[in-house]
Amino acid sequence: MLTSSNSISYHKNCIKNKSIKLLGIPFDGTVSYRPGSRFAPSALRNEWYGIETYSPYQDKDLEDYCVEDLGDVEVPIGNTLKTLDCIESKVSEIISKDSVLISIGGEHLVTYPIIKAFSKTYENLCIIHLDAHADLRKDYLGEKLSHATVIRLCHEILGDDRIFQFGIRSGTKDEFAFASSGKVKMHKFTLKGLEEISSKLSTRPVYLTIDLDVLDPSVFPGTGTPEPGGASFNDLIDFIIRMKNLNIVGADIVELSPHYDHSGVSTAVACKVLRELMLAVCK
Ligand code: MN
Ligand code: MN
Repeated sequence: MLTSSNSISYHKNCIKNKSIKLLGIPFDGTVSYRPGSRFAPSALRNEWYGIETYSPYQDKDLEDYCVEDLGDVEVPIGNTLKTLDCIESKVSEIISKDSVLISIGGEHLVTYPIIKAFSKTYENLCIIHLDAHADLRKDYLGEKLSHATVIRLCHEILGDDRIFQFGIRSGTKDEFAFASSGKVKMHKFTLKGLEEISSKLSTRPVYLTIDLDVLDPSVFPGTGTPEPGGASFNDLIDFIIRMKNLNIVGADIVELSPHYDHSGVSTAVACKVLRELMLAVCK
């Protein structure tokens, strides 16, 4: 099912037990501002040749792990409901306790069907959510299924005290009020505060969703809804590495819109984030 001739796969040494599965989800049907994230999975694969397999940050090498690129989910863009069903059933098919599934969006709404599938496999699932935007709207112009409502939808599945947000610097007054009422734990503006929740999460299964617009647009302009005042690249890598002791069972990176960055730097940034993420979840 690969839409690109390239794929991000490693199986040379495979010295560790846990493997990684990669899944592209090229859907951007509900974006509120600038579409284009459907092109992110193929852009990442096309630019992957520029990435070293070795990480000096973590002293780990992708070639020591098994990484299997499963290609892209085929989605009927234009039919959001059907698209979400396709994603959920594909993810349910793939989930396994012997591997960590990392999905590449696509827009942020793709996280909703993924969480539906994960919550059936993992009891007590928690979410760590990195984003410029709260994504806690009840609806967006009357539409309940939107990348601006995705974390609210996840809250409907998981309930209170399961979602931990970082880097949030944009949203409506209602969204911030929803967070302050204690339904989710929101860390505003920065990626600081992981240590406060680490003991709480300790052995619980954690799903990590990274909306790449959590980064400052000066680092990452290639996104549909850029929001000044964001994290640096080093902040994000540091956060990912500090997460490695948690029990991360799945993750996604979303909202890269490669065509908005003619320099191609945003795609290179996303590739490097993906490498560090893969290595951090490999035990
Ligand atoms: Mn966002
Ligand atoms: Mn988002």
